[in-house]
Amino acid sequence: MLLQTDNLTVGYDGQAVIEAVCLHIRKGEIVTLIGANGSGKSTILKTIAGTLEKISGRILFMEKNLEDFSRKEKAEKFSVMFTEKVHTELMSCQEVVETGRYPYTDYFGRLSQTDRQAVEEAIQLVDIEDFADKDFSQISDGQRQRVLLAKAICQQPEILILDEPTSYLDIHHKIRFLEILRKLVAEKQMAVLISMHELDFAEKISDYTVAVKDGKVVHYGKPDTIFTAENICDLFSIPKDLYHQYLGKMTK
Ligand code: ADP
Ligand code: MG
Repeated sequence: MLLQTDNLTVGYDGQAVIEAVCLHIRKGEIVTLIGANGSGKSTILKTIAGTLEKISGRILFMEKNLEDFSRKEKAEKFSVMFTEKVHTELMSCQEVVETGRYPYTDYFGRLSQTDRQAVEEAIQLVDIEDFADKDFSQISDGQRQRVLLAKAICQQPEILILDEPTSYLDIHHKIRFLEILRKLVAEKQMAVLISMHELDFAEKISDYTVAVKDGKVVHYGKPDTIFTAENICDLFSIPKDLYHQYLGKMTK
């Protein structure tokens, strides 16, 4: 098992948002996290990524407590992409991608030949060559998500944690994004933990899905057991008649 949480309770200032999260992820697997706005998806991801302190429970990475890894070890093994807040003053997109190599570079952040190659590969994979020289603050939200994905990929982590990475992408780039994830998983045996609202895509790419509501994990399993009309209506509090009127074809 690559990553595992054991009765993990997450929240802010000692107040639980989600209790007793037990999930696991192996190398080469994609695990998706779904749930309504405010249900706690980001809180779970921030806690696993180590930017938010857990309230209780355990997070194990390769059977070892995550706290026992050094900052540098964690930075090499985990790559995290949160789209909300990114500080980038006057950086080009290329420079933002390059910061993904920081766990490997020296004190001055100088890039080696290997670093440059990883950056170049990621830029090509995500198809951002056309605007790599542009100022990061002067591109669209969707382009920004692709730059951040390139940054996360060039870090060559063992596990990629992505918080709603596809929300601003057009349909073409959503599909490309998911193809890239599949490729990383198949070719590099990367593990991916991802939250998303595109349920149709989530169903297709997930090995396992975790659904959260009302402070707990309400469903956890293979996508064919999760993405039923019944579950989705319940999870997002959608009246059945409206579901069938507007979303009927989306799931079985
Ligand atoms: P999601 O990502 O599923 O939309 P979040 O994990 O962001 O949900 O939020 C879950 C709950 O935690 C919400 O009730 C939200 O208001 C609360 N919350 C989010 N961030 C903070 C914070 N920094 N401090 C206190 N409460 C927060
Ligand atoms: Mg969120």
